[in-house]
Amino acid sequence: MNVLERLHKTSIRATDIASQYWCELKMELGYTVGERVTAEMRKGRSMHEELENEVNEPLPLEPKSYADYLYKMLYTNGLALDALHKNKRTREVQVYGSVNGYRLVGKIDELVVHEDGVMVSEDKTKSERSAFSEPQTRPHRVQVMLYRKMLQDLRDGLYTSANFCRSYGVDRLALTPEFTRQLDALGVAKDTRSIRSVSDIFFEKCTKIGKLSDTVQLHYIDQFTGKTLKVMRLAYTEKEFDDIITFSMKYWNGERNATAVPFEEKWKCDYCIFFGKQCKVWWPQKKLG
Ligand code: SF4
Repeated sequence: MNVLERLHKTSIRATDIASQYWCELKMELGYTVGERVTAEMRKGRSMHEELENEVNEPLPLEPKSYADYLYKMLYTNGLALDALHKNKRTREVQVYGSVNGYRLVGKIDELVVHEDGVMVSEDKTKSERSAFSEPQTRPHRVQVMLYRKMLQDLRDGLYTSANFCRSYGVDRLALTPEFTRQLDALGVAKDTRSIRSVSDIFFEKCTKIGKLSDTVQLHYIDQFTGKTLKVMRLAYTEKEFDDIITFSMKYWNGERNATAVPFEEKWKCDYCIFFGKQCKVWWPQKKLG
């Protein structure tokens, strides 16, 4: 059984790889044991929804099946890219790709048109007191670098609608009659009411996104007030992306087990729901300390 099967997954999320850079073992336990949704996570999600609705019109489509869900995602993505050209910014664009033969998915928080090209920006909610040390911001850095590379591959036509349809078995999927009625009510043209057609449209739009900026951004937002706490601009390089993939894929390929945080980062265990239960790596030291 490979790692993906063991974790009951079919794709690797960009956030999985980012989480490996916080604590790989915690990421794995999140799948094998299950992670509780904390109040902080809920707050972060609702703030993302509020921000998305500020920029992109919510769509009155209610998927009834996996096929409907895929259609809605691709359709919404296409509209989000239209908004980018119209408003010079857009939010919540799901990106797809492939790495080492694994399916890779992620959702970009924001794309903004700058003078030097389209910039990928990622929002993170934090409490004001939180610090911005390197270990704390490392997973966010990884996430935004992955998004930048995935978007580049879509723009350059290295991951296409054909790749997507093959990988997701699109030709075996059919939209539900109820969802098709919703598309009808929305005025969606008959010849674009299939996943393959909406996929073709979205991936074609990706190739026309324009030049991408080599700067990526992390936008830290106060989780209570919604105000900006800090903006970090980082230089994207292929080298950094390659290093991220080289490290993370050793885990996904089963070449090594999930690693716990190093001794000097065992303070992270104070924030981990598995500490002292499913994970006792630093339990004796913490008890003594
Ligand atoms: S207790 Fe510490 S080492 Fe163990 S999974 Fe949690 S963060 Fe990682």
